[in-house]
Amino acid sequence: MSVEYVPLVVPPGARSEPALWFAFQRSQMLVCRGENGPMVPCCRDLADHGLNPLRTQYLGTYGGRHCYTVELHETAPAPAGWGLVGLRDMFAQVEGTLAALSGRAFQIIDWDRNHQYCSRCGTPTVQREGERSRVCPGCERVTYPPISPAVMILVTRGREVLLARKPSFPPGRYSALAGFVEPGEMLEDTVARETREEVGVEIRNIRYFGSQSWPFPHSLMVAFTAEHAGREITPDGVEIEEARWFDAAALPTLPPSISISRRLIDTITRRLAAGGSVEGP
Ligand SMILES: [Zn+2]
Repeated sequence: MSVEYVPLVVPPGARSEPALWFAFQRSQMLVCRGENGPMVPCCRDLADHGLNPLRTQYLGTYGGRHCYTVELHETAPAPAGWGLVGLRDMFAQVEGTLAALSGRAFQIIDWDRNHQYCSRCGTPTVQREGERSRVCPGCERVTYPPISPAVMILVTRGREVLLARKPSFPPGRYSALAGFVEPGEMLEDTVARETREEVGVEIRNIRYFGSQSWPFPHSLMVAFTAEHAGREITPDGVEIEEARWFDAAALPTLPPSISISRRLIDTITRRLAAGGSVEGP
C-alpha cells in the first residue's frame, strides 16, 4: 500500500524525531539492508552515524516523517550494515511513492550541487526562502530544479503495435518510440515529429496515456498512443536500427516493468489481444 507524501520546502525548526534520509554519493543512494530489500535510513540525524553531508535540502513528509535529501562526500564510507544502491535498483525494489520520492530526492540534490554558481555571471548563488530555487545576488537570475519533458509513442495498426530497437538496447529488446520535447513544441508536435523522424510513418488520433517522472537525470516521460495513418516503416538508422509491427499477442523482449514504456505496451497490447480497442475493451 502506498504511503502519503506531502511536499514541503520549509524545514522544521528542530531535528528531534527520527527522519528519513535520502543520501546520495554521486548517483548511488545510501540504504539500510532490510529483510525485504533496501530501506531508506531513518534516524534523527545522519551525524549520529558519523556522516556529515555536503549539502541538505528538506523534502516534506512521508507517512508523517520528515524527509531530507543530502549529498555525501564522495569518499564517505557507509556505516556498518548500510550500503549504496543505484537509483534504478531502488525503483525496482520499493513501492511506487517511495520510488518516486527517491527520484525527487536525487533530482533536487543534483540540482542544488549543479547550481552553486550563476550560469550567467559566475557569482555564488544563494538558496531562496520559502521556495525551491536559488538566486544570484549579482544579476538576480533565479534557477529552479530542471525538468526535461520527453514523449513516448506507441503506434498501433489494427491489433499490431510498432516497436523499435535502439542500438544501445540489449539483444532482442524492442520498445515504444521516444524523444525529447524541443523548445517551442507542444507535446503533440513532438509525438508526430519523433515518429516521422525515427521510423518515417504518419500518425493520427494522438491520445494521452499517462506520465512518469524519470530521474535519469531529470526527465518527465509523457506517454501517448497514436494510430498509423500512412507510409511504411523506414528506420532512421541512427537512433533506431530496426522497427517492426508486432501482433499484440506475439511480442518480443520488452523494457523492464519499472518504466512507463512497459506499462504503455502491456496495457495497450492486452486490450488489443483481447479484441478491444486502444481505449479499452
Ligand atoms: Zn548572476
